[in-house]
Order: sequence, then structure tokens, then C-alpha cells
Amino acid sequence: MILQSDKDVTIMTTSKQILVINCGSSSVKFALLPKDSREPLLSGLAECLGLADARITFKTSEGKKTESLDGGRHEEAMSALTRFMENHGWLDGVAAVGHRIVHGGERFQASVLVDDGVIEGIEACSSLAPLHNPGHLVGIRAARAAFPALPQAVVFDTAFHQTLPRAAYMYAIPQRFYHDYGVRRYGMHGTSHRFIASETVATLGLDPERHGILIAHLGNGASATAVSNGRCVDTTMGMTPLEGLVMGTRSGDIDPAAVTFIARKEGLDLDGIDSLLNKQSGLLGISGLSSDCRALEDAAAEGNKDAQLALDMFAHRLARLLGGLASSLERLDALVFTGGIGENSSLLREKTLARLKIFGFAIDPAANERAVRGAGGLISRPGSVMAMVMATNEEWMIARDTAELAGL
Ligand code: AMP
Repeated sequence: MILQSDKDVTIMTTSKQILVINCGSSSVKFALLPKDSREPLLSGLAECLGLADARITFKTSEGKKTESLDGGRHEEAMSALTRFMENHGWLDGVAAVGHRIVHGGERFQASVLVDDGVIEGIEACSSLAPLHNPGHLVGIRAARAAFPALPQAVVFDTAFHQTLPRAAYMYAIPQRFYHDYGVRRYGMHGTSHRFIASETVATLGLDPERHGILIAHLGNGASATAVSNGRCVDTTMGMTPLEGLVMGTRSGDIDPAAVTFIARKEGLDLDGIDSLLNKQSGLLGISGLSSDCRALEDAAAEGNKDAQLALDMFAHRLARLLGGLASSLERLDALVFTGGIGENSSLLREKTLARLKIFGFAIDPAANERAVRGAGGLISRPGSVMAMVMATNEEWMIARDTAELAGL
């Protein structure tokens, strides 16, 4: 139960809450969700950890509040977070902690409770996500120190894609690279795709045993997935988040021979290639202007041709890969757009659906315009294959798994 004072100063709760943590190498994102609620009591971000301007921002119904952490690291961020929760009367209600983990390799097919073996397993997957998994481990250790008595769970971004058939996840290179180093398609954004898949079945009243859904998670990072009868059967991201769609600063698919050609021409080493494809490409690289879809839509509307090309390429690639993903389905019931771009860019949804008419999609332009800023809903014409917009909620998915595993 949530009791809220008239002046909205302090919120007390007697229900159990789940603390959801997404820890990076220099940041901690967090959310505190009452069990069985999709709305967080508290959310926020500690950033620039380890640097002089390290800080933590708390967001509640009272508004936003930022505190300096003064060079503090994850442990200090965790202390500031527990202090804040204590001051609001929330600390005693925290019953479990759930962590988002980017890479679980083949070892983790589902969410699990943390123990020493699980920590070892996440460490073992670190070579596949060197920018993410070590940061997650720091977060798990800091949370274990801050909440020694609480159960902790880990929820993997790769787990939902572990149902991919072998033909969909292997790369066409000698198999020894898979056997020796685990080189294969793993897919990312799995927690979001899993959430959208189950919400779509519920919202549209689809048969849980017999459905086919395409999901386009379009944010700064972007991936699309095909879900057949509740199982993920194909996805566009690969061994790393670089493969597939055009993204904010990532190239997505590119002929590998073009990469070696550029490297030779420009004398780029491996780090140079990594930076070119991950940080200087995508919408930013094409437009030379911005990685931000909104900024490009504004620029294109004012006649900027490079911004227009970037948006056209985004839609072209998306439609092309969605068409490919559809070939892995037994039937096609719906295409769902989510993520910052998917939930808000009526322009890119319209451009993409216009290219997918052959699959039976027909957009309702007025519904498409209305489905922005969290409005969501169907954007297809009656009688056509359904297309819809839905807000994703990875935090809630992590909280739900954590509550289940902790037996709450
Ligand atoms: P995310 O990574 O999911 O937060 O998504 C970030 C992306 O969503 C950025 O490219 C934003 O420009 C884009 N975005 C957010 N709001 C809008 C909007 N109203 N119109 C177009 N793109 C948007």
C-alpha cells in the first residue's frame, strides 16, 4: 500500500519493493519498484563515478534532486542511494535486488539468483562484453555489501535469444571459432523484447501457443527480433551490439571487406576500426550532424539532405531486416515498435511500414500521429496486419523476475 501525504512530501510504503540496478563501469542506473507495480517509487542515475564531478540524481514524484558524490565510486553511489531510501522510509521495504547483465553467453538461458558460481559465470562471459560485464560485477559486489541479507538476482539481455536455432546463430566461418571462442550471434535487448512479446500477446489477445510477432526496439542502440509462439527465433544484433540496424553511432551491417579496405587505405588499427564502427558511424556518421533522431528529423524538415539520407537509410535497413526476420515466422500477427525512436518517431514508423506493404501492413496515419510520448496503441488500418506502438519497461521485467526468484 502506498500512503501519500497531502503535501506530497513523503511517501511511505508497507509493500515489498525490488531495487533494480543497471551498473556500468562509471555509472549506476537504479529504480525502486513496489512488487506488482510497474511504476517506480524512485529512479535515477549515478554518473561520472570515480571522477571529480561524480554525482547522483534521484527522481521521485517530488521531482529531481542531484547530489555530488565528490569523486566517489560505486560503493559511495550505493551508500547515497541507501541513505536516500532510508530518509524516505523505503529502505526496510526493500526485499530483493535485481541486476541487469548485458551478456550471459550460452551459460545463462534465464534469470538466476546470484551466488559465487553465478558471479564466476558472469566473469567468464566478460570477454564477450568487456565494456559491460566487469561494471555489472562491480555493481553486484557493491549491492551485496550494501544489502548482505537480501536475495540478489541477475537478468541477462542475451537470455531471451538463447532459443535461436543453430542455423540462425552460427556465423558462416569455420566452426572452430565458435568452439574455441564462442563466436556466434547472441543478440541483445532481450529483456525489452521479452517484455514486448508477452505484452503484445496479452494486449492483442493472441494465442500464447500460436503467434508470430516482429519487434523493433529502436533507441540509440537498435535491434529487431522475430518471436514465434513465445520463443525468439531470430534477431538482428550479433555477437556484439554492432550488427544489424543503423543505430545512433553504430554502423550496423557492413561488408567486412569494406572495413579491411578502409583500414588499409587509412592505416587504421583495430581500435581505430572499433571506434569508427561503434562511435562515429550510424545516424551520426551519415548525417555528420547528430546521432539523435529528433535533431535529424528537425534538420531534414529544414532541407538538410544528409539528415534526410540518414533517416531514409535507417528506415530502409529496418524494413529490409524486418522482412528477413519475417521469414523465420510461421505466421505474422503483428509488428511492434518500441524504444525512444519506436515510441516517438511517427515519421520513421511511417517510412518503414510503407516499405512493408508486401507483408500486408497498412498504416493508419492519424493513429500513427497520435501514438507518441507514451501513448502507444495500434497504428494499422483495420483488416491489415497489425502494427502497434508500445512503451518498453525493462526495469519492471527485471523486478518481476527478481521477485519470482526470491519467492516474494
Ligand atoms: P532511447 O535510447 O530508447 O532512449 O532512444 C533515444 C532515441 O530516441 C534518440 O535518437 C532520440 O532522438 C529518439 N527520440 C526520442 N523522442 C523522439 C521524438 N519525439 N521523435 C523522434 N525521435 C525521438
